[in-house]
Amino acid sequence: AHLDRIEAVEPAVHAFLHVDREDTLAQARAVDAERAAGGELHELAGVPVAVKDVVVTRGTPTTAGSRILEGWVPPYDATLVTRLRAAGMPMLGKTNMDEFAMGSSTEHSGYGPTHNPWDLDRIPGGSGGGSAAALAAFEAPLAIGTDTGGSIRQPASVTGTVGVKPTYGSVSRYGLVALASSLDQAGPCARTVLDAALLHEVIGGHDPLDATSLTGPAAGYADAARQGASGDLRGVRVGVVRELGGSGHEAGFQREVSAAFRRTVELLEGAGAEVVEVSCPSFTAALAAYYLILPAEASSNLAKFDGMRFGLRVEPVEGPVTAERVMAATRGAGFGSEVKRRIILGTYALSAGYYDAYYGSAQKVRTLIQRDFAAAFDAVDVLVSPTAPTTAFKLGEKLDDPLAMYLNDVATIPANLAGVPGISVPNGLDDAGLPIGLQILAPARADARLYRVGAAVE
Ligand code: GLN
Repeated sequence: AHLDRIEAVEPAVHAFLHVDREDTLAQARAVDAERAAGGELHELAGVPVAVKDVVVTRGTPTTAGSRILEGWVPPYDATLVTRLRAAGMPMLGKTNMDEFAMGSSTEHSGYGPTHNPWDLDRIPGGSGGGSAAALAAFEAPLAIGTDTGGSIRQPASVTGTVGVKPTYGSVSRYGLVALASSLDQAGPCARTVLDAALLHEVIGGHDPLDATSLTGPAAGYADAARQGASGDLRGVRVGVVRELGGSGHEAGFQREVSAAFRRTVELLEGAGAEVVEVSCPSFTAALAAYYLILPAEASSNLAKFDGMRFGLRVEPVEGPVTAERVMAATRGAGFGSEVKRRIILGTYALSAGYYDAYYGSAQKVRTLIQRDFAAAFDAVDVLVSPTAPTTAFKLGEKLDDPLAMYLNDVATIPANLAGVPGISVPNGLDDAGLPIGLQILAPARADARLYRVGAAVE
């Protein structure tokens, strides 16, 4: 049914970069055969899942949204893919994304944009707009995303779906095409909080192949979601973050987004939660710190795309064919403008003489943000804010204005800088009928709280 739905709506939505019907059906039939043979199956066996194209998949092309990786077929699976396969969850295909996960609209994909199923003239968010749109268009019941600065939560917000950035280290990064290694985190995308929790339990847990993987299993998320579904939040302390649009007077926050947020805060109180306002003053510097740390790490991670090892190789049109000139020609042709912009910014910020002023200062801001979170979580169990300052904007509207694009991440970025988990759940519609998102943040390793509170408000 999902494959048929993909065939019907893909010409309009373009959520996928790669679908192999026969491969998916073969995986589904293998599960059926195991069931028929009386084998013990995982509870999600047979439920198909769409995977963001930044996750490497053995035998299935993986581009990370970039022309530079066109035609590359990975020889191995990411750990999270190994776990999906072990659970018997057939892969529906690879979803569209901003090139190397840089962006908030999926317009920076090297393969054309994805359209928001709620209004095809609007963006589905980014960088994981393909996964979010696939869910919103009922092309997939579950999807995988990655979130370095909001790329799971912001697309969830603007497509009326659920997206979770787990605690840093909670889902293995082995086999992700790295953007910024100290910020990257894979996570579940779904249409309900319980579905996301179930998927998180499949893909999460310790992985010896990831040096920053947390110890211990990923368990208790579905139970927390079931507990939250009762709607009883007595005893839960909720902090409204003043700096993330919580004051209601934040510049840049759409009127309906703020109004929906305030209504939901009242609902939380009605459900028995104790709501207080908290201040995290360093959050106002998060965006600036992120846009130094991310380009710095990305410029280093992307150095491996040199025309020699993976995918595209372009030789100079004239003159000698030296290694350096092949690299320059390949990168010139294979990288899009946003990727080039960030590599230039990152190498500049890391260069001798500027390192302390830029990268060093940004790392200090990061510490201050971690301290703000620690102080806030001394007083409350979870923090809430709008996920994104606006609902889905029009395709093309912010494409030529990188700063306007970056401002979309203002509420999601602090969590990545501190490594704490966050969820976006649907929070009503604006006057144009477009979805609004609510963000819930919890302390590191307390992801279960996201599922409990998320299920109570959904
Ligand atoms: N929009 C953010 C960026 O462009 C988030 C990216 C991400 O989470 N992968 O960097």
